[in-house]
Amino acid sequence: SSQQSLENICILGATGSIGTSTLDVIRRHPDKYRVFALTAHRNLEQLKLQCQEFEPVYAVMPDPELAQELESFLTYNKLNTTVLHGADGLEFVASHERVDTIMAAIVGAAGLLPTLAAAEAGKKILLANKEALVMSGALFMDAVKSHGATLLPIDSEHNAIFQCLPEHFVQQGIQHCGIHNIVLTGSGGPFLHKDLSEFSSITPEEACAHPNWDMGRKISVDSATMMNKGLELIEACWLFDVMPQQIEVVLHPQSIIHSMVRYKDGSVLAQMGNPDMRTPIAHAMAFPERIDAGVAPLDFMEISQLTFDRPSKERYPCLSLASQAMEQGGNTPARLNAANEVAVEAFLNRSIAFTQIAEVIQQTLTSTEYAKALSLEAILAADEQAREFAQDLIQDMTIHS
Ligand code: NAD
Ligand code: MG
Repeated sequence: SSQQSLENICILGATGSIGTSTLDVIRRHPDKYRVFALTAHRNLEQLKLQCQEFEPVYAVMPDPELAQELESFLTYNKLNTTVLHGADGLEFVASHERVDTIMAAIVGAAGLLPTLAAAEAGKKILLANKEALVMSGALFMDAVKSHGATLLPIDSEHNAIFQCLPEHFVQQGIQHCGIHNIVLTGSGGPFLHKDLSEFSSITPEEACAHPNWDMGRKISVDSATMMNKGLELIEACWLFDVMPQQIEVVLHPQSIIHSMVRYKDGSVLAQMGNPDMRTPIAHAMAFPERIDAGVAPLDFMEISQLTFDRPSKERYPCLSLASQAMEQGGNTPARLNAANEVAVEAFLNRSIAFTQIAEVIQQTLTSTEYAKALSLEAILAADEQAREFAQDLIQDMTIHS
């Protein structure tokens, strides 16, 4: 039947910014894709609406009470969706035999276990959840390889790099593709021109108002500190098997070029487009084909100019912290990520100042233990220790301020 030729998609983090953009692309192609499972964390009302529209086979809400409430709603509305809860529920749908493709769009470390489960089940993984890869780098890439999973980047920069690389770079090895280096572009966020003396009074509202992209709150703050670019540098090292020194970070405030690959012969390939995540989402969903994403064509007359600059170390200390963490390796990226998640949340709750985000991360990295950490248990332990240390540090900061 036609149902069988549809690609079954599981969206982890369906109610977020990436999740809703993914559903928007799916909505345009009912002949190609079927929503098999949707998951959410707190946003019950939106998940209800999504279940009504897409009638997935499964819906997952980690919290048992919210799951119960969702189930009552679905039963009342005679919808044929089974509700699951808990971390097991997430892993169950991410590795379900009927699922072809996983959109990994949970924010933060919470996405690691289900995304890893999808890799171990050999799925096609559309990876937005960069924190999962930053934490578990080698382990995650090994799981992808040894279980024959397919990994396609959703992060716009990595999707751009992927599009600028020769088709068989994974099989050939990137070192044999004649590449000079990778140019990772970033807008510089909302504080590119803000006076440094005013950084300590930046509010969460200001930090979340990104000039070009409409995103979740955590990644918006990461973009303002440029920790997002730091996490993306680490992400690129794992995805493309390069060293941090082979990646150049360039400020490009218009967010039209999403990243570039420089070749040895002097050619530079760039991927361009309007800053709309539906482009990389549609690219990865349909790869190697191309489908309509609902994104307006790029209007060069309206853009008129593209500019470039060097990121300042004083303005963006988080960027250096991240590249140093990648160079140190082992459990350091996991500790960096954990400290950042805790610090960003504390900033969003107005417990610490914007400038204290980098301080919390730096102190956590110097005070928690380095380990080579290659097992999942070791990664999770490093994550937990860094979180605890960062929490205590923030408590001290709040008491003394
Ligand atoms: P968001 O905050 O808008 O959405 C996050 C989603 O994850 C929600 O559906 C939420 O229900 C779910 N979630 C949150 N905490 C959870 C938990 N503890 N357990 C289970 N589910 C949980 O975030 P977003 O902007 O969509 O970003 C999602 C991921 O994609 C992040 O890793 C981000 O870095 C990455 N990303 C986002 C963009 C963007 O434009 N938004 C671009 C590139 C990469
Ligand atoms: Mg990005």
